[in-house]
This record gives sequence, C-alpha cells and structure tokens, in this order.
Amino acid sequence: MTAFYDTHAHLDYPDFAPDIHQVIERAKTAGIVKIISIGTDLDSSRRAIGLAEKFPEVYAVVGWHPSEALRAPEDIRGELRQLAQHPKVVALGETGLDYHRLPSQKPECGASEDEKYKQKQATLFRQHLEVAAELKLNCVIHQRDSLEDTIAQLEPFADRVRGVFHCFANDAETMRRIVAMNSLVSFTGISTFKNGQNVRETIAATPLDRLMLETDSPYLAPVPYRGKRCEPAYVKEISELVAQVKQCSLEELSAATCETAGKFFKKL
Ligand SMILES: [Zn+2]
Ligand SMILES: [Zn+2]
Repeated sequence: MTAFYDTHAHLDYPDFAPDIHQVIERAKTAGIVKIISIGTDLDSSRRAIGLAEKFPEVYAVVGWHPSEALRAPEDIRGELRQLAQHPKVVALGETGLDYHRLPSQKPECGASEDEKYKQKQATLFRQHLEVAAELKLNCVIHQRDSLEDTIAQLEPFADRVRGVFHCFANDAETMRRIVAMNSLVSFTGISTFKNGQNVRETIAATPLDRLMLETDSPYLAPVPYRGKRCEPAYVKEISELVAQVKQCSLEELSAATCETAGKFFKKL
C-alpha cells in the first residue's frame, strides 16, 4: 500500500475526543502513516503535543490562529519558543492573516476595530516568523482574503523561513509567487468538490515537489464524505484525485509528497 501523510489536521478539537483511537487506526489502515496536529492557540498547541506524546504517528505544530488574534496575549514568543523545543513539534503555526470576517461586519463595530484586528494578526504572525527563524523551523500559514499582506510579511523572512500556504485555493499565478519564495502549497478535500475546478487547475500547474496533502480535519471532508466530519484517513481520497490530476501514479505521488514533507517539517 502507498503511504501518505496528513500534514494538517486538528486532532485536538472536541470533535475527535470520543473516538480518537479509532480515528488514528482508520488512518493507518488507509495508509496515512503520519498525521500533523495543528495548534490554534497555546492550549490547543499543548493538546497537540499531548497527542504527539501518546501516538507514535502524530506530530504537532504550535501556534495561534489569526482568527483568534484578539484574545491572544501581546507577546507569545516565550511560550512558542518553549513549546517548539519538543522533539515532535515540527513547525510553527497555524499563523498568518485572515480578513474574511472583519469586526466591522457587526453594526456596533467601526473601521478602527478592523485596523486593530489586522494589526494584532500581523504582530502575532511576525512573532511566529521570528521564533521560526531563531529555531530554524518553518511556518504553517493560513491565508484568507489577505494574500498581498501575507506575502509581504513573509517575504523578508523568506531566506530563513519557508511557509506552507495550507488549504490552498488560489490560482496558478499565486502558486508561482509562493514557490518563488521557496515556500509550498498544500491541498485539501476542496480539490474533490464538484465546484473545485479552479483548485484542480492550480494542482495541475504546481510542480510535484512543491505540494503536500492535508485534510484540515474536522473540516472539508472530500467527496464522497462531503459535509460529514473529516478525518485523516480521507487523505486517501485526496491523494487519488491529486494523482489523477497530476497524471502520475499513487507511488510517485507518495514518494514526492512524503519527501517534500520530510524536508519541510525537519523533525518529522
Ligand atoms: Zn487554516
Ligand atoms: Zn487548520
């Protein structure tokens, strides 16, 4: 059987609490041999590390999600530094910028609230990049409706820190700009959706050694599980779709994506 990794899952979410053992068993049965659990705040990051200590297949990424920026402390570099020393912490994140839901969408909030929110996201993103550069680790990047600002913030670090733009759904031109910074893209179950044609076009254009696979579990379950809870085993469906689009064998895709992940997440 061909082996794949799930490079982005949120195994610490309550969705998985009742059956985490079975979720990991099903992943192994499907050939998903490594799973990276991504932190979304410091507690979530600690839980991800706890799972990595419990299950040999699980690794952790520690960070603070941009959508949760407003409730973050001013400076998380000390905690990030400390957590990232763990032998199974393979990157910093998820971090980045998300302008999809801005405070001004609520009637009681004005444009100045948006500015404060964006500033706080930018501060946190920079803190992740600084710690990553210090510790020679890379960053898992979340970007939504904030492409230019995200690229502008990563660029000064690009000689020291690589990013993976996770859940990538932008066009081929954007993918090329990211690859030119020595960064990567990773694809989720969106690639299997009927309306995911634009993502399939980007996959077709992406060099085989610049992409990784992920589920973003518990979200974005691929067809035929669309709308259900997503779990790491479903990398299988994503890998089949990506191999078909890339017109390569599952063996070639397995070898390429596992090698790419091994280089990017150095402690994997
Ligand atoms: Zn994300
Ligand atoms: Zn995520």
